[in-house]
Amino acid sequence: MSANEDCIFCKIIDGEIPSAKVYEDEDVYAFLDISQVTKGHTLVIPKAHVKNIYQTDEDIASQLFARVPKICQAIEKSFKPKGINILSNTGELAGQSVFHLHLHLIPRYDQTDGFNPKWVTHNDDYSSEDLAEIANLISQNI
Ligand code: AMP
Ligand code: ZN
Repeated sequence: MSANEDCIFCKIIDGEIPSAKVYEDEDVYAFLDISQVTKGHTLVIPKAHVKNIYQTDEDIASQLFARVPKICQAIEKSFKPKGINILSNTGELAGQSVFHLHLHLIPRYDQTDGFNPKWVTHNDDYSSEDLAEIANLISQNI
């Protein structure tokens, strides 16, 4: 898939917009997120322009995720975070603001390091039958 001329990340890959490059090969590019939610916050992107995970085929997904362990290991070696969150915001409601697939690698240092996802559990709202029904529907759509 070719570059999208309106896409800021395609422009970063092409060098038209500067970036703090962490890693590059023929399929994947990684660079520091300008917002640095925590120190070392890195974005990993496919060179192919795909909007988000919904548009992503298995080849692009494999290439992209294959590079994640070594980049995470390098972040761990560099800054010794206590953990890393890996996430991909998909769709505006989920916080996606740049519509070229990207994985955020967010090193975690402590509870007040700048990243604070709220994880609300609803265990009591779903019976095992409810879970089976939900799983079944998703499964049928794969
Ligand atoms: P998302 O909101 O998940 O789509 O993430 C997009 C990310 O791209 C945000 O965290 C921005 O800080 C980051 N970003 C936008 N423009 C640039 C840029 N020119 N260089 C580095 N990061 C950028
Ligand atoms: Zn793009």
